[in-house]
Amino acid sequence: MSANFLSELTGSFSRPSAENPTVAMMEAAYRHHGLDWRYINCEVAPEDLGAAVLGARAMGWAGFNCSIPHKVAVIEHLDGLGESARIIGAVNTVVRRGDRLEGENTDGQGFVESLAPVLDLAGKTVVLLGAGGAARAVAVELALAGVARIWVLNRDPGRGQALAHLINSKTPARADFVPWDRTFAVPAGTDVLVNATSIGLYPDLEACPDIDLASLRPGLVVADAIPNPPRTALIRAAEARGCRVLDGLGMLVNQGRIAIRYWSGIEADARVMRACLERVLGLTA
Ligand code: NDP
Repeated sequence: MSANFLSELTGSFSRPSAENPTVAMMEAAYRHHGLDWRYINCEVAPEDLGAAVLGARAMGWAGFNCSIPHKVAVIEHLDGLGESARIIGAVNTVVRRGDRLEGENTDGQGFVESLAPVLDLAGKTVVLLGAGGAARAVAVELALAGVARIWVLNRDPGRGQALAHLINSKTPARADFVPWDRTFAVPAGTDVLVNATSIGLYPDLEACPDIDLASLRPGLVVADAIPNPPRTALIRAAEARGCRVLDGLGMLVNQGRIAIRYWSGIEADARVMRACLERVLGLTA
């Protein structure tokens, strides 16, 4: 049998790209599963995005991730969109299907895959902090996964109202915007509290969303999208009050696992990917 020296290619287009640890996590998964695959972290300027996508097509890449600032702009270079990417209006994962390049959004899917083993989402009520890109992705996937009610809190009312309108007009769930101009007490009857703001992101280790911590009660699931540090001030406070907690590192791992699933069909090992991220982010000795 002759050897095959042709690797499958995947990667990421973003700018800035140097601090994005995804390549380490994805290649750790490829190695672990014995795949002759590569993940190439590419610095791509906005004016070069079209050429980069053409290059990926010409070279037969299996797919690629898009990050800041390309998640919306990439859409015009693609042949189609998955359901949630179409509703969210942003793509973080491009998948080659035959000779088509199709856009998916795995940010919210990764979040839902982290949450689904913890509780049955059907009919549940969620308080969502934030209305930016991560919050949109999370809200749309929660709604498509069967969550009944989403309270959207955001500092900027325009963005918050727009997200509530998106959920109400494009999904079966009901969403309401709540102006977030004072300390918010999580109402009884809430099943999940999600922080999808950037409050608490490294290096603001002590920053915590303006929530009445006394309203965090045992039984509530508290999830933070922030991957670094995984143990945010919110996660630590929620844990101390007996809540079930989910960190953003799990979401980051899962959105990568879903991309690998789209590209290769392989179910990548989450533990291997998480351990790699913890190592490269300096979270373990
Ligand atoms: P955006 O810039 O699109 O949105 C930021 C959000 O945070 C907005 O809702 C903004 O409110 C809010 N916000 C920021 N600072 C404050 C503050 N001081 N007080 C109140 N609200 C604030 O960012 P993204 O949505 O892309 O990312 C948000 C977070 O999610 C980041 O920390 C990112 O790391 C994380 N993330 C995690 C992923 C994962 O896989 N774990 C995937 C994607 C993102 P306003 O509209 O009022 O400005």
